[in-house]
Amino acid sequence: MKPPRVRFAPSPTGRLHIGGLRTALFNYLFTRKNGGVFILRIEDTDQKRLVPESLEDILRNLAAYGLTVDEGPRLIDGKISEVGSYGPYTQSKRLPLYRRAIDELIEQGSAYPCFCTVQRLSELRTSQEAQHLAPGYDGHCRNITPDEARRRRTAGEPCVIRFRTPKKGQTVAHDLIRGDVTFKHETLEDVVLFKTDGFPTYHLANVVDDHAMDITHVIRAEEWLPSLPLHLLLYAAFTWTPPEFAHLPLILGPTRKKLSKRDGDTAAADFLNEYVPMAMVNFISLLGWNPKTEQEYYASLDVLVKDFDLAKVNKAGAIFDVAKLKHLNRLHMRALPPEKLATLMQLECTADEAIRFLPIITEKAETFSDVRSGIAFLLAAELVYEPSLLVPKAGTREKTITVLTAFLQWLPTCGEQTWRNAEALKAETLAWVAKNSWTNSEALWPLRVALSGLAKSPDVFAIACALQKVKVLERIQRAIEHVKNLQK
Ligand code: GLU
Repeated sequence: MKPPRVRFAPSPTGRLHIGGLRTALFNYLFTRKNGGVFILRIEDTDQKRLVPESLEDILRNLAAYGLTVDEGPRLIDGKISEVGSYGPYTQSKRLPLYRRAIDELIEQGSAYPCFCTVQRLSELRTSQEAQHLAPGYDGHCRNITPDEARRRRTAGEPCVIRFRTPKKGQTVAHDLIRGDVTFKHETLEDVVLFKTDGFPTYHLANVVDDHAMDITHVIRAEEWLPSLPLHLLLYAAFTWTPPEFAHLPLILGPTRKKLSKRDGDTAAADFLNEYVPMAMVNFISLLGWNPKTEQEYYASLDVLVKDFDLAKVNKAGAIFDVAKLKHLNRLHMRALPPEKLATLMQLECTADEAIRFLPIITEKAETFSDVRSGIAFLLAAELVYEPSLLVPKAGTREKTITVLTAFLQWLPTCGEQTWRNAEALKAETLAWVAKNSWTNSEALWPLRVALSGLAKSPDVFAIACALQKVKVLERIQRAIEHVKNLQK
């Protein structure tokens, strides 16, 4: 295969959506796997829908998720600049190209000016609805002679340009994921290629640019599949060789309907607040792609690139399963060096604290919020909790004071090695508790609450080793005062 040139072609109409990120990722994986180029093209021909912050959001997300763009706009030191020799990569800067293309189509009769007013089109729609007909343009201006059309345009009559879709026959499109898909021409309408505002529509600009940028593979969401026959007919009209096409399956919410805001966050940026970027990339890579092995965990983009295969992408919709994302996130959090995880999460702690505390918390935590709330008791300068919690259900105030005071005296006698190893600390403590003829719960419950302030917490010995001797003794001392202050 000659090195592919693929593009991610978002419209800057809002925040980058999870679906967009998946499209970008699959393009990226495919092209990296085959030694090709990853292009970012901004499709901003629908000027009414533009959202100014959108471009920066797209660029920031691609960078945050590690999808390095080879050609197109990039964010360098907070400024947007374009790289690559096929530019400009923003469609609003390529208007002359589309004008030439549309003139060519009109010239050869594949496109025609349509002078229908907004009012006529709306009346047409109303009458089609009343007759229960499929809505669509009725070809009213299709047979205006080129001379008359030219005269009316020259006279300044506003018009759009429509594609003259063949009315008979069919287009058989080959999709790399779906195989051959047949579209009957009678179902296609004469869509608008060029608007009155001087901008092309998506269809024209997309085809013209894919050709001009030597795109070899178009990998995009399934929602674009119905546009495929029109695109292929446009390639044929221009006598250009079309690229290959792959339409990625829908992303579904838990109720098997297309994923929407109702299902929770759908903006790519929001997931950065809760998940390791690579965990998201790992999770998203499995939305539609099935490696056909047991493997689910992918440590890095490089590993994914090695395994990725467009031929193993499914047709069926892929369910966005947050539980799976959380599971993968836990694995990725644990795989990161704790100090790196702390930096990534912007956790307020030192590298030393991260190294001591995070492994305990990521044992169970699945999101950054879990980590933040879970680690709070370890980082707290002073614990705030209900003192009565220190006394075990079946225990007494006096016994609790006795036990905690004994801990305060005994724990410092444990050696440095013991303080570094939760298992060793546990073994020595349990032996000492038994020697005192206490039950484990009457001794360990108060200790655990003294160190954590929590009714439920990670293992007390892991906590003790992580907090280290000074902090442990300080917290036990405070706990003893708390119990003493409890009403008798
Ligand atoms: N601009 C289109 C979008 O927003 C691109 C579709 C395509 O890749 O052809 O999704």
